[in-house]
Amino acid sequence: MVSGIVQGVGFRPFIYTTALQNHLTGWVRNTSSGVEIEVNGEPQYIQSFLNSIKQNPPPLARIDSLNTTPCKPNLYIGFEILESHSEEGKFLPVSPDISICPDCQRELFDPSNRRFRYPFINCTNCGPRFTIIKDIPYDRPKTTMAEFALCEACKSEYDDPLDRRFHAQPVACQVCGPTIWLESEGKLVENGEKALQETRNWIRTGKIIAVKGLGGYHLACDATNTLAVSELRKRKKRSDKPFALMAFDIQSIEKHCFVSEEERDLLLSRQRPIVILEKRPDSLISPAVTPFQNTFGFMIAYTPLHCLLLEPEEGYPDVLVMTSGNLSEEPIAYADQDARQKLSSIADGFLLHNRKIHMRVDDSVLRIFRNKPYFLRRSRSYAPDIIELPGVKNPPSVLATGAELKNSFCLTRQNSAFVSHFIGDLENLETLQSYEEAIVFYEQLFRIKPDLLVADLHPDYLATQYARQCSSVHQLPFISVQHHHAHMAACLAENGWTGEEPVIGLCFDGSGLGSDGAIWGGEVLTGDYHKFKRPYQLKYVPLPGGDLVVRKPARMALAHLWQAGIEWEPGIPSVDYICSQERNAIKAQLEHNLNAPLTSSMGRLFDAASSLLGIRHEVNYEGQAAIELEAIADPNETGHYELQVIDNIIDPTPLWYSLLKDWFRGVSTPILSARFHNSIAYTTEKVCLSLRDKSGYNTVALCGGVWQNLFLLERTVNRLELNKFTVLIHRKLPTNDASISLGQAMIAIHTSEQ
Ligand code: ZN
Ligand code: ZN
Ligand code: FE
Repeated sequence: MVSGIVQGVGFRPFIYTTALQNHLTGWVRNTSSGVEIEVNGEPQYIQSFLNSIKQNPPPLARIDSLNTTPCKPNLYIGFEILESHSEEGKFLPVSPDISICPDCQRELFDPSNRRFRYPFINCTNCGPRFTIIKDIPYDRPKTTMAEFALCEACKSEYDDPLDRRFHAQPVACQVCGPTIWLESEGKLVENGEKALQETRNWIRTGKIIAVKGLGGYHLACDATNTLAVSELRKRKKRSDKPFALMAFDIQSIEKHCFVSEEERDLLLSRQRPIVILEKRPDSLISPAVTPFQNTFGFMIAYTPLHCLLLEPEEGYPDVLVMTSGNLSEEPIAYADQDARQKLSSIADGFLLHNRKIHMRVDDSVLRIFRNKPYFLRRSRSYAPDIIELPGVKNPPSVLATGAELKNSFCLTRQNSAFVSHFIGDLENLETLQSYEEAIVFYEQLFRIKPDLLVADLHPDYLATQYARQCSSVHQLPFISVQHHHAHMAACLAENGWTGEEPVIGLCFDGSGLGSDGAIWGGEVLTGDYHKFKRPYQLKYVPLPGGDLVVRKPARMALAHLWQAGIEWEPGIPSVDYICSQERNAIKAQLEHNLNAPLTSSMGRLFDAASSLLGIRHEVNYEGQAAIELEAIADPNETGHYELQVIDNIIDPTPLWYSLLKDWFRGVSTPILSARFHNSIAYTTEKVCLSLRDKSGYNTVALCGGVWQNLFLLERTVNRLELNKFTVLIHRKLPTNDASISLGQAMIAIHTSEQ
């Protein structure tokens, strides 16, 4: 019995050929919990067979366990692959989707191949998986390919154990498989290859096309055409948030960006995610793609359809915008009718196909930090990979419902945590619906019935309300967990930390409800999976106007100045930006404590700095002010300012004084931005050192959305490592709120033990 990722990865053909090589008879079959094999033969051959399984499994397989039991010799004539066998209640990991492999890509452009230019070419080593599977075991009838009957030629490849498409469930060809067509205003324009050529013509002339892909729709246009890109921004109602780009190959990307070896490997990996890269100054890509930033988010064509769409040709753009097909804030469209309706106001045409998408997933987004991948969004081709829960014995099954923004949920079964793909911001009905559907799907796919529900402490989060509702419908216990405790636990769990010794958690993010009712976000915690203390926090500042401040960093800057006792003098960019009428209103809110909840948010501190330096006073997407502040920071500047640490309060007052003094002296904003970042890293180091002196804790976990700032992360990790701290950062999940659900699950499991 073999378990792990052993289905949809060419495992049975591999077993078949390996058995033949070793003169063994018997059979192999998929079950709901793995792959079952019976072999008869000479002991030394059986041993060598087992060794091959352990040492040279197929490239996409991951073996978690291999159990053997002796059996009576049976008289088999040869070696056979049997029908799959499903068992009640058993489960099996499901492979994520895999980008087109080199063999298929070669065949796609080979005129002598029978799948020449066929947009759905795939094989045992590549193609859709998670987005088309409806249930396990992973067999064609349980995927959205069930409705396409195999033609003779495909059937013989599918049945031939020596063929590279043996039991490749989505296998198809021009004769029997899905097809593409181009539509405009509800009318068919062209079919098949002509549809593709017409789409390319439309893109060449600056039109916007909705392209149905693997996990949802993209909106595509020529990335070098500023008119087209700006038009897309206008129609999508998205003013500044970066658009993702797609290129045919790595050479095209290198024309526009600096690409390190690690970035190159990640772009070309079988996940082919979006990788954030530094722009080349001579790039011809429209600046409207990523306004106010020095980076582009690039991916390489990852399905055969993308390869055909991006195929290089004289006069055709080498880079396309490929942004998710949705209206601002809504989840990516994936169902055809829904997409037609929602995207008709944005797209001039629709490049469609008739292979259904069962589960929507967005593209994953990563950066390289210290030569290794660092997630900003974990979705396509990574979900639903398992994260092992360290050191827990016979835990209950848990549903952790996650946070409000950048939501993911997490379901656990024994030591396996299934952290969902990126769901999005649970602020509208659309996203809530896709969230609920995804939970039901994961529960069914992985055969999980939660014994326990866990949610954020914030009662108004839709995810919290969902958990409460489930708990009362199914009569299940419910636990709520403080947001930053969950952040810390998530970072510990994915680093395999078993929980013997408490750690220091640097939980820096935008906001999360604190145990005292204030809005936390600049917290230094200590603790473990059971409990936490809060030895240091950023000083509370009022948020004049509550949520409004998140959109208007200039208000945050005024609040920080007021708190620090600094006059709102003309000449300070934030003061100049806000008209006197609004300033008076803010002053009244601050002085009379009207609609001015308290926050210790580190994210808001970065917002304030961004506005004070005149970089960003009002944001169009979450985190924009901090992102632009990071973008201009001078990497060679080493200076820093002081923050005051008294008792357990970190007070930025002296920082604001120094920053403004130097600003008025004419020190440049890149230098000031760098010093601001350095000041946070320096203060963090100081606080950790003093905590270690008092407590002896030597492990520091960095968690929360603020650590998406690599300028800050690099400097903080450097300082902590120089002081011989063990530093834990996120590597398997994003450091933002998408990791919260894993932490909630881990805390719930530990709390329920007691
Ligand atoms: Zn392939
Ligand atoms: Zn066929
Ligand atoms: Fe958070």
